[in-house]
Amino acid sequence: MDNKLKNQISRVVTQWADWVGKELADSQNSHQTIHKIFVMMGRNIEAQISQDIKKMTDHKPACYAGCHWCCFGRVVCTPIEAIALAMHIQHGSQENKGTLVMALEKHIKGIEGKNDPWANGLSCPFLRNKRCAIYDFRPMACRGLMSPDANECKLAARALKKGKKRDVPYYPLFTHFQSAVQSGVMVASRDMGFDWRPTELTQAVWLSLQQDDPVQDWFSGKEFLAPAHVEFDESNLVGEVENDGRRWQK
Ligand code: SF4
Ligand code: SF4
Repeated sequence: MDNKLKNQISRVVTQWADWVGKELADSQNSHQTIHKIFVMMGRNIEAQISQDIKKMTDHKPACYAGCHWCCFGRVVCTPIEAIALAMHIQHGSQENKGTLVMALEKHIKGIEGKNDPWANGLSCPFLRNKRCAIYDFRPMACRGLMSPDANECKLAARALKKGKKRDVPYYPLFTHFQSAVQSGVMVASRDMGFDWRPTELTQAVWLSLQQDDPVQDWFSGKEFLAPAHVEFDESNLVGEVENDGRRWQK
């Protein structure tokens, strides 16, 4: 990564840590704050991808609506993303909530006690009829993963089903920016004394749905997401964006 890009990405981390820290410190309504941070993360990542990065490069993602070969792996997200998504499910229509909760419950039972449930590819419980059922609320890792070749993604997903590894070609630049936003959010969460650790999406959403008020619990410093935490070295928190950006990916 060249120095200009490194500096640009570091600026994103710092700006996000500052903004989120202020939002958390000044919060008058914890639910609105979590929702706002989540929405702004998604908007910012998509704006950077569609405006800044595309201007900087000739990257042409092959991603299209209905392409879903990247939806068979583990997704890692920040606690704020998981809690915001759980709130979205909780407050959605009863029909939608029922379907999503049932799919999630089945998925959680299926992965229980397994060492690496994703080893042979496991469909994301939010994938319905080849579409993401939570598209507007999808986690940041799903927004940042973009490939130049959908067919390669398909071959990688098929290989995974057979327990074989096949690299998915993806644009690291998009994931660098997505990781920078997430890093900023986690730095602010950590510095405010809240649970900031990266979590596995499905377990974290499920655990959030088990709380009466996950937002309030998170704001009071409870670590109810601990069982969903993924292994992570804190010293990599900000430096993470300087490697290949993979840690935050599926
Ligand atoms: S990353 Fe690959 S599988 Fe996912 S939407 Fe893009 S082209 Fe399709
Ligand atoms: S949340 Fe949506 S986009 Fe992300 S892996 Fe699941 S189905 Fe795919």
